[in-house]
Amino acid sequence: MRFLIMGPPGAGKGTQATAVAEHFGVPAISTGDIFRANVAQGTPLGIEAKRYMDAGEYVPDSVTNNMVRDRIAAGDATDGFLLDGYPRTLAQVAELDGMLNDAGHELDAVLVLTVDREAIVERLLKRAEVEGRADDTEDVIRRRLEVYAEETEPLVSVYDERGLVVAVDGMGEIDEVQGRIFAALDARTED
Ligand code: ADP
Repeated sequence: MRFLIMGPPGAGKGTQATAVAEHFGVPAISTGDIFRANVAQGTPLGIEAKRYMDAGEYVPDSVTNNMVRDRIAAGDATDGFLLDGYPRTLAQVAELDGMLNDAGHELDAVLVLTVDREAIVERLLKRAEVEGRADDTEDVIRRRLEVYAEETEPLVSVYDERGLVVAVDGMGEIDEVQGRIFAALDARTED
């Protein structure tokens, strides 16, 4: 199973990705988590990424694409993976197509979590208090939502045209959303 999870910041992708990946026995690969780990360790990649992340901007493709290429080539991802937070731009879609094509693989599904815009800002502000993420201040949250709408939302139609999109309502309790996700993915993998 090779698939993606998409949705605006605050849609709960990270939380759901972990559970879904475990269910299908594949690693959950989150570009946001990889960047944050690099920032925490002060690596050159982290120092470069931090400038963009703190402003709510996307890290340049030159950095992100190579990082993903290396990560999905790792041993634990040879039989499948769940990508969380990549691709985020049309250029990254093309890049991922190339990576998969080179390996003779293709995507099985694109899970899209849908959420209500107002609820998102509230969720993110709450997360800021709990986790203290530097990119969870109100101004940066607004910028991240704008960037998502401009750069990433259009990807849903691209994958929809390929017949890959599985849309799931991301509002409600974590378990409730998880139940919907499993039902939708199971229905799809039985096809
Ligand atoms: P969110 O909860 O906002 O979806 P993530 O944890 O997925 O955030 O990512 C945090 C930040 O890491 C993004 O705002 C962006 O700066 C950077 N980032 C993550 N994935 C990518 C990507 N595919 N391309 C460019 N930047 C990325």
